[in-house]
Amino acid sequence: MSFDSFHLHPALHANLTSLGYKQATPIQSQSIPVLLKGKDLLGIAKTGSGKTASFALPILNQLVNIREGEKNRQPKILVLVPTRELAVQVEEVFKALSGNLPRPIKSMAVYGGVSINPQMKAIYGVDILIATPGRLLDLQRSNAVDLSKVERLVIDEADKMLNLGFQKEMEELLQHLPKQRQNMLFSATLSEQLSGLNKILLSNPVVIKIEEKEEEVKLINLSGYFVSNERKGPLLRHLIREKNMTQVLVFTSSGVKADKVAGKLNKNGIQALAIHGKKSQSGRMRALDKFKSGELQVLVSTDLISRGIDIDALPYVINYELPRSPKDFVHRVGRTGRAESKGVAITFVTREETHHLKVILKKMKRYMDIVDSESLEF
Ligand code: ADP
Ligand code: MG
Repeated sequence: MSFDSFHLHPALHANLTSLGYKQATPIQSQSIPVLLKGKDLLGIAKTGSGKTASFALPILNQLVNIREGEKNRQPKILVLVPTRELAVQVEEVFKALSGNLPRPIKSMAVYGGVSINPQMKAIYGVDILIATPGRLLDLQRSNAVDLSKVERLVIDEADKMLNLGFQKEMEELLQHLPKQRQNMLFSATLSEQLSGLNKILLSNPVVIKIEEKEEEVKLINLSGYFVSNERKGPLLRHLIREKNMTQVLVFTSSGVKADKVAGKLNKNGIQALAIHGKKSQSGRMRALDKFKSGELQVLVSTDLISRGIDIDALPYVINYELPRSPKDFVHRVGRTGRAESKGVAITFVTREETHHLKVILKKMKRYMDIVDSESLEF
């Protein structure tokens, strides 16, 4: 579907063109009209399907049409996301879409792990605030920001945000928002928590669920290897060399493991960095930027960056260790095969994990060929 039918501000169209967006994706086609009408929405669509612009476009369109005099100096729009890296990325999308508008629209990402003072100074006069919950609460408690003027709330990666891990912070934050507001929840995976809490959050929401077509599911080629823990390192190096992988994202289940795997790769002449929650924020950003730009061959990560992070045409994802939950598996492999591009996701499985893998694949409604690596020479 063309973007023309939404009658967005011409400057927004120009920005879409310069981003190379020609057609709206299915989630964009269906949610933009609903959101332009000011309705609450629960939008479910697979990873990489363009959910960010689904909320960013109607938000910007509304802001650009506000007359100057009506402007207040506190955020009108709040976007909540689970990780710092995703906050930065979503803010980049808002920036890219808000170039050359007739009145400047200010967006800003706030997140923890970096010093709070510069954020306190810069936050005044921001229209769109993209935040992780913890840092936003800190800013709120120190009166650096007033959330009572928020008119629209977006919760991206909603199932994660409404999960137990964020519950206390989310409850506290929501108390500071006006009751009367538009709510937009977006997610690739739906969970029990989401179906429970959205009843509280959303008033009579429109629910849009984009079902995947067969051929779209196949954009990600899934395959696996049975391998013992001791042979995982050698198998990883063998695959990287044999398949000439120039850009590969490797998932482990702990930060300690991520460091070990990256260290071992470097020792063997394969350039790798690790990213996880125990690393400094500047180290995290540097590793991700280098990887996104193609400068870094291997990024080894925990599930920290399994959510929402968009790496242009990433060809390979490797699950060095299986995630515990099938949902994490979906998000991990969804870092590849984004937009229309193809991707390959390779999973390492120990014999003891066979049952667990079956559970995951059943949830994904996918089949996967698994090769026994014992017979491979490397
Ligand atoms: P999601 O949040 O659903 O995982 P994103 O919003 O991160 O997906 O978008 C995934 C990728 O698709 C990004 O690189 C984005 O620039 C691109 N994209 C989004 N919408 C379009 C479109 N209409 N046309 C082309 N590319 C798009
Ligand atoms: Mg997203």
